[in-house]
Amino acid sequence: MWISDFITKDTSFENENKTVIVVLRILYLISFLAFCADTIVAGPSAVMMYPFRYFLLFSANVVLFFTTYRLRTKVSSLLFMSYTFAWTVCMIPVYGWSAGMQNYYIIILMLCFFASYNRAVLKFINAGLVLVIRIATIGIFGGIKSVVVTEVIQDKLIQIANISAVFLEIIFISYMFSRKENEAENKLMKYNDKLLREANTDKLTGLFNRRRADEYLKAVEESNDGQPISIAIGDIDFFKKVNDTYGHDAGDEVLKYLARVMRETSRDGTFLARWGGEEFLMVFPDSNGDNAYIAVERLREAIENSVILVGDERINVTMTFGLAEYSFNRNSESTIKEADEKLYLGKQGGRNRVVY
Ligand code: GH3
Ligand code: MG
Ligand code: MG
Repeated sequence: MWISDFITKDTSFENENKTVIVVLRILYLISFLAFCADTIVAGPSAVMMYPFRYFLLFSANVVLFFTTYRLRTKVSSLLFMSYTFAWTVCMIPVYGWSAGMQNYYIIILMLCFFASYNRAVLKFINAGLVLVIRIATIGIFGGIKSVVVTEVIQDKLIQIANISAVFLEIIFISYMFSRKENEAENKLMKYNDKLLREANTDKLTGLFNRRRADEYLKAVEESNDGQPISIAIGDIDFFKKVNDTYGHDAGDEVLKYLARVMRETSRDGTFLARWGGEEFLMVFPDSNGDNAYIAVERLREAIENSVILVGDERINVTMTFGLAEYSFNRNSESTIKEADEKLYLGKQGGRNRVVY
């Protein structure tokens, strides 16, 4: 891939805009191809008639291409614009007005906007200047006939070569600069998503955090359409003892494990959050208390029957749950309070149970 390395190589200066430099190099290459195509179609007699013009423009294209590796971006842009201008005005009299050399002004205009970091006002002034020069070109050369292009087919081929080069250059400039904008925007959107996810997620368990749970409950209250909703709060039994016996890190592993069991045993749509240190909140939308009870009881059994492997230790824990049904004539706060009271009753009644 040495060609792409060749084109995408940095300038000798740090902190220069790479996209602009890469675009300029490609523009030189496209212009070079168009220059060669025009010359071949016009034939050797044209070169004989204007040897200096051809020689100077040809050398300028090659030399200026290589200066993009050494010069500052701003200088390179100005040089490319000047080269394009010189090429256009030198060749209009040679190929005639109909060859469409004047269309290359559009490229200069686009570079005024995309390749420069001037203030907007300056960009508009430059654009106005390009228009004035373009109009002056009409005044000076408008409708001029070619001295070297005698055949209609030659004229058409030169027109095709030039307009293809202009189109290619416009497409390329638009693609490169819009891609940059899109990439930046995409990155920002992804970053925002990530921030939002992090703000809503409990780092240890990967479940939603208390902040998100509060938000979710508020939304449930606001959008309640009379469908039954059930809320459960679960608390690990004797968790302090787990920490004391196996260490705090092992306790963390137990929390992660339980979160995974909750995720795996829950139906889609069940909202799971880490409500506090070793307490979890479960919201069952579209479920009355009886249906939610079946789900929570299944989860309780799954936890009771699992052995959590942490290092060499085999840890067994149980959980107690309080379950309450939410109804539209009460708020979520009072439902949670009821679930909490039932959890407390479960603890008093011997733990490892679901109280509804
Ligand atoms: P009970 O059955 O009555 O709920 O007893 P318990 O020991 O679980 O309850 P207690 O409230 O006395 O202790 C809860 C423990 O949970 C104490 C605290 O250190 C631990 N804990 C809270 N958050 C974390 C955490 O993020 N990681 C670990 N490892 N432990 C935590
Ligand atoms: Mg607790
Ligand atoms: Mg506990």
